[in-house]
Amino acid sequence: MIIETNIDRFDTEHLWHPYTSATRPLPAYKVREAHGCRIILEDGTELIEGMSSWWCAIHGYNHPVLDAAAKSQLDRMSHVMFGGLTHDPAIELGKLLLGILPEQLSRIFYADSGSVAVEVAMKMAVQYHYALGRPERTDFVTIRSGYHGDTWNAMSVCDPVTGMHGIFGSALPVRYFVPSPSSRFHGEWDPRDMESLEKVIEKHGGSLAAMILEPVVQGAGGMRFYHPEYLRQAARLCREHGILLIFDEIATGFGRTGKLFAWEHAGVVPDIMCIGKSLTGGYMTLSAVLTTEEVAHTISDNYPYAFMHGPTFMANPLACAVAGASVQLLLDSGWQEKVENIETQMKAELAPAAGLPQVEDVRVLGAIGVIQTRKPVDMACIQRRFIEEGIWVRPFGRLVYIMPPYIISPEELSRLASGLVKVVGEMP
Ligand code: PLP
Repeated sequence: MIIETNIDRFDTEHLWHPYTSATRPLPAYKVREAHGCRIILEDGTELIEGMSSWWCAIHGYNHPVLDAAAKSQLDRMSHVMFGGLTHDPAIELGKLLLGILPEQLSRIFYADSGSVAVEVAMKMAVQYHYALGRPERTDFVTIRSGYHGDTWNAMSVCDPVTGMHGIFGSALPVRYFVPSPSSRFHGEWDPRDMESLEKVIEKHGGSLAAMILEPVVQGAGGMRFYHPEYLRQAARLCREHGILLIFDEIATGFGRTGKLFAWEHAGVVPDIMCIGKSLTGGYMTLSAVLTTEEVAHTISDNYPYAFMHGPTFMANPLACAVAGASVQLLLDSGWQEKVENIETQMKAELAPAAGLPQVEDVRVLGAIGVIQTRKPVDMACIQRRFIEEGIWVRPFGRLVYIMPPYIISPEELSRLASGLVKVVGEMP
């Protein structure tokens, strides 16, 4: 019954949802409102939020501080173009970001979404080499099981099997893929993890503009947590061969892995870094690409003396104002202790899943908890069961995972974790 009252017919017949059929879509439940760590459906059903709306809503929904920032900015201006104009929300956010990111990353390019940030980062790398008189350096190397977004170039560096390469085939630029590190985050470092990258770089280094990867946590490409030593070794190899290193921190940024940014696990500062998602606390879309003085100068001091990108909604004031409020709120919130508590509780309460016959692996890092099943889940069926249990969880493939808002209470997290274990245990 719940299911019928929460599904909207117009939506089903006309609105396209992500990664589903337009004509036979998976159910989409209608949300009336969301507060704190709760999503409230049309009929009043309350769900405990386990996804932070895909890594974004770190402070929960309708946070008074973020609401106030949005409203006060709305009274001044919601948008002006960034070409030839600037404004306090962009400047203040920039100052905040420089205070929490490595000091080498001192130049900020605001963009619209995570995927666009990845496009911008890749263009930056190619234009950097072009400026240095190395126009042949247009290629990229990455690790398998990655996910960097759905636009053309971002898609080209997503995992070639679980990504969309099969469908878009030769229309996509060909990239070099090396196995993702087998050394697990909490395990021993195996130096053999570097062998493939060494070979690719030795053979093709002269055509490579950059290596791009998600540091430590691979998100939508497999929810894998790998050893930080890989980043140190990859950085060394890249530097030896004049290849730029791009970290995609769009999912890992702002505390999710237990560090403010995942690069800190390895102490490796990339040449270019992408951030997005929880940058605005999940209020609206905004991303940023940060780079070094060296990259910025090389691009800007050589023909065509400008970086060739400029989105219409670049540095949207409304988004920047909320992002500034969100970052400050995070810094003032004792986030580290909150994430540590979530991690400890998830480790204890997801552990029983490891004993289930349906389960291959259970892993937790920071505020990310993953149950990897042996068989792919039946999405429509498992989603309905989660809703019956009063929790919002959106698995994919063999990955049933949660990354709750940091404001989740221990009681809410217990309901989330026990609901997860219960429903996975019912799988055929
Ligand atoms: N990069 C990573 C690591 C992501 O997890 C995502 C989104 O899930 C993206 C890029 C793309 O971001 P967006 O969906 O905002 O385009």
